Amino acid sequence: MLELDDSSSTANDQADQYAAAASVKTLSSLVYGQAYTAQQDLRMVYHAISGAAVYQVGSQGINTQAIVDYAKQKGSVIASWTFHQRANALKQAAQYLLERKEEYYELAKATGCTRKDAWIDIEGGIGTLFAYSSLVRRELSDETALVEDAWIPLSQHGTFGAKHILSPKAGVAVHINAFNFPIWGMLEKIAPSLLAGVPCIVKPATEGAELTHAVVKAIHESGFLPEGALQLICGQTYDLFNHLNPQDTVTFTGSASTGQKLRAHPHLNAYSIPFTMEADSVNSAILTEQANDETINLFVREVFREMTTKSGQKCTAIRRAFVPAALLDCVQTRLIQKLEKVTVGDPSDDGVTMGALASVKQKHDVAAKVEQLSQDAEIVYGSHLRQDIKIQSPHPEKAAFYPPTVLVCRQPSQAENIHRIEAFGPVVTLMPYENLTELADLVARGEGSLVASIVRDSDENIESVVAKIAPWHGRVHILDAESAKESTGHGSPLPYLVHGGPGRAGGGEELGGLRAVKHYMQRTAIQGSPNAMTQVGHSWTAGAQVFEDRVHPFKKSFDELRVGERLLTARRTVTEADIVNFGCLSGDHFYAHMDKIAAAESLFGERVAHGYFIVSAAAGLFVDAAAGPVIANYGMDNLRFVEPVKIGDTIQVELTCKQKTPKQQRDPEQKPHGVVVWDIKVKNQRGDLVATYDILTLVERGA
Ligand code: NAP
Repeated sequence: MLELDDSSSTANDQADQYAAAASVKTLSSLVYGQAYTAQQDLRMVYHAISGAAVYQVGSQGINTQAIVDYAKQKGSVIASWTFHQRANALKQAAQYLLERKEEYYELAKATGCTRKDAWIDIEGGIGTLFAYSSLVRRELSDETALVEDAWIPLSQHGTFGAKHILSPKAGVAVHINAFNFPIWGMLEKIAPSLLAGVPCIVKPATEGAELTHAVVKAIHESGFLPEGALQLICGQTYDLFNHLNPQDTVTFTGSASTGQKLRAHPHLNAYSIPFTMEADSVNSAILTEQANDETINLFVREVFREMTTKSGQKCTAIRRAFVPAALLDCVQTRLIQKLEKVTVGDPSDDGVTMGALASVKQKHDVAAKVEQLSQDAEIVYGSHLRQDIKIQSPHPEKAAFYPPTVLVCRQPSQAENIHRIEAFGPVVTLMPYENLTELADLVARGEGSLVASIVRDSDENIESVVAKIAPWHGRVHILDAESAKESTGHGSPLPYLVHGGPGRAGGGEELGGLRAVKHYMQRTAIQGSPNAMTQVGHSWTAGAQVFEDRVHPFKKSFDELRVGERLLTARRTVTEADIVNFGCLSGDHFYAHMDKIAAAESLFGERVAHGYFIVSAAAGLFVDAAAGPVIANYGMDNLRFVEPVKIGDTIQVELTCKQKTPKQQRDPEQKPHGVVVWDIKVKNQRGDLVATYDILTLVERGA
């Protein structure tokens, strides 16, 4: 059965659509190593500008059990890859997609967006892959699992303690996406799942699925990911959820009604399968009470941008704009003046500044929502009001154009619809507020949103506004003249920042750097002895077995070194001359080191050695001076000065090989090498710890 576009009304239209169905392509699902093309129950997708049929989508007869099995049997090999292997594969896949980006811009034309709009989806999506790849390579060790703690002591003598580890879930991540970002929406979800070591099944919205399909097909062709790590269902998911188990995860972006229905699926409930939801969000922008002329313009510019970018089809777009009552008319006038310059039409025509909605269905949906909003507010610009809005198209009636529309609600505290209904298009409602308490109440009436912007004068304190609205949002964007030039804007979710919101926004959390990767991993507290903990995390734990050798560890190559290899150095007595010389050499004449009287009255009761002298003297004790496999010392982590070192104290160093990470050779000229982390403990003559830290060295490989 072909499901016809609901905008068709005449018999001729229907005949046209049947004819179109016979000639347009059907998108296949890319599952269990095949391209599966359904023959029945197809849904047609139409060009947002010309109204012509573009492709049809359906998945009737697809074997959902086989999809899940294929992910778990083949795709799960990604869990055995290390974080760096996964990150390198994603980087290569991102590069492969970037080289083909023009193909995606071409396909995006059917969705009605401008090239600038498509950039967010295409290059924003590919950029997210690059950003996640580099974050993981920078922040995580080259292991398959993530160790969160160095050691949590649980015993008096140090023989029993714990660490938390995060391991890839032994399942599959099912990602169901909305129509508005067919590429970014998928890539921002698969990047964290694949980096966590979990294979994915992607189900794009029917509208826009052609773009998702093209990108998944290219990723498959690139060959950088294991077979089965990424599958695509174009069409319906049918009974897919019934085949999931407690190691699986579902994420959803779309309307609250669909999300709530899916979240209540009895199988997900019965097996406690995590369901992350991102749904309708009635996001706010706030102009502060002391706004000057420049700030008002910044506010208007931001509201304008959010209305017109992607024709307002962004989950983060501003829907409610709160303005001090005295400034309402001014803001309304300036916003309308800017909107009057917008030309809606076919983005391939010169002079067009705003494209269409994604489909005629969306156009009807937005119109119906505006109708509901208008029960609370007056339409002051756009919608059916203004016939003079420029629409540049030979057949505007076939296209999904919707004019920028401004409503004003003068009594927002008595309104209902404007706080709960999201018209997913170029629509905003302006409303006045009298004071901070009223403002906070009105913002909270949205019952949870993805983002709010506060637009303020640079010297205005907005701490109390942030405190009141932060609990209702996943992100708060503060805009002022100081940051305006470089601000990434109200509507841009960023890989390193949390994207999601409480309540109406779905209660989910995506992105946020490594937080998103951890979402697909199971956190487990592992308890045991230091030796057991060393085995589990591949990282030497204080108290675990050590190995001593006559050969200095700095004379050993990366491959010869063993985790736990220990050097106990000679001793050194710290003298007054050491302190004076170090003070003169470094220029650090702090009283605790150099002023006998002040030091006597200080916490220490007498002069003490500089902490940095102890670190330097420790290096003097453990370093092997001759040329060898250690290429460089490139950093120090976790430095703590535990006890003061006084004149006459004797220090000694324990240097232990803590962790080894082989590095990828970037160019053939470079010597193969790895990173060795050394645990350093400096102790005094009583055996008390005076300083502890890790040093990081690059060490040549070789037998
Ligand atoms: P939708 O109708 O809820 O669809 C979202 C996704 O769910 C689509 O992939 C859809 O597939 C799929 N889906 C629908 N029914 C399903 C079912 N029974 N089982 C499995 N999957 C199912 O939302 P939409 O049309 O994409 O967007 C509509 C509204 O969502 C917008 O108007 C906006 O309010 C909201 N939205 C919110 C955000 C956000 O992040 N906050 C983002 C985008 C959209 P099909 O397309 O094949 O039906």
